[in-house]
Amino acid sequence: MDRPVPPVVTPGAYVADSPPPSDAIVLFDGHDLAQWRGSDGGPAKWTVANGYFEVAAGTGAIQTAQGFGDCQLHIEWEAPAPPHGEGQERGNSGVFLMGLYEVQVLDSHDNRTYADGQAAALFGQYPPLVNASRKPGEWQTYDIVFHRPRFTASGSVASPARVTVFHNGVLVQDNVVLTGPTAFGKRPPYTAHADALPLSLQDHGYPVRFRNVWIRKLE
Ligand code: MG
Repeated sequence: MDRPVPPVVTPGAYVADSPPPSDAIVLFDGHDLAQWRGSDGGPAKWTVANGYFEVAAGTGAIQTAQGFGDCQLHIEWEAPAPPHGEGQERGNSGVFLMGLYEVQVLDSHDNRTYADGQAAALFGQYPPLVNASRKPGEWQTYDIVFHRPRFTASGSVASPARVTVFHNGVLVQDNVVLTGPTAFGKRPPYTAHADALPLSLQDHGYPVRFRNVWIRKLE
């Protein structure tokens, strides 16, 4: 908590209903969670309403039915308003690339926490370059470019994962190199895994909403 936090930048206004490009796989178009599964492999239990879906606290993470490796991901999210709690206990969720590498979702508007745990951090590894958060109750966008790690036949790391993130159109992660899976208070090493794994979203117990989710495979 004593480490410096990124400077605040006010992003431009949110523009609604930006349609996905023609080669995108639409993971949520406002209607159903057909592209998603629960963490037990059964139907995703989160709530769908009014063109968004919302974390149903206690039901667990959800993950895509399909696996992905290198990708461009667009996802929109909204933290609960009025806000409740402080630090990590305010609108916490997360976008887990390959289910392992978390781009933090948190209400980081006027809400101090450790820098590598705030919104758009690569959790526990990289604070965002700036804090481009909108207020709770306002839609926010992540545009993420992800390159998966590569492993040798013997399972060692041939090249680590790299991530670029735009938060509300502002560059906040500039091709950062992950040290391994993200975790709280530690830096686990890479463990060799498949070339494609489901994208997952975190149930941290807060009713965070998501909409307009699409992905482009880059491999
Ligand atoms: Mg989280």
